[in-house]
Amino acid sequence: MTSKPSPVEVRLRPHHIMCQPYMILETFDRGEAFNSLAKHIKEVLESQEETLIEVTQGVDDLCRECPLCRDGGCRSPDGDETEVRKWDAIITRDLGISYGERQTAGYLRTLTRRKVPLKLCLTKCRWRSVCRVMLGNSTP
Ligand code: SF4
Ligand code: SF4
Repeated sequence: MTSKPSPVEVRLRPHHIMCQPYMILETFDRGEAFNSLAKHIKEVLESQEETLIEVTQGVDDLCRECPLCRDGGCRSPDGDETEVRKWDAIITRDLGISYGERQTAGYLRTLTRRKVPLKLCLTKCRWRSVCRVMLGNSTP
């Protein structure tokens, strides 16, 4: 008899996997449901070991609670779905992960810790002033 695979608990796009643990912002101007989910995801990525995460292309579990997610994609003024996907693609490549891949939170934390700062952290990111990677503490 084969054992049943563990259910994936969180589906996350690559920049949420990488960036969320390092954000020093506790809340965003996106409503209570979003803030509470963002806090939960941050805790999973920072401290849980076995929780399974699926690397997701496009809208993920966090986006679903985001008021900037409309018509099946990100409509943020900071970069729409096309731009966010380009950002995710760079992070996917530089972390060495793939869409559809399932990994534990512990594995992804160790991987991220080893890889940050990516080149885009140093050259392109507009969240640098609120990110611990760039504030000298890259241990989530
Ligand atoms: S919809 Fe856009 S701004 Fe909202 S969580 Fe998703 S990627 Fe971030
Ligand atoms: S510097 Fe930007 S891209 Fe890099 S981990 Fe921080 S928020 Fe993410």
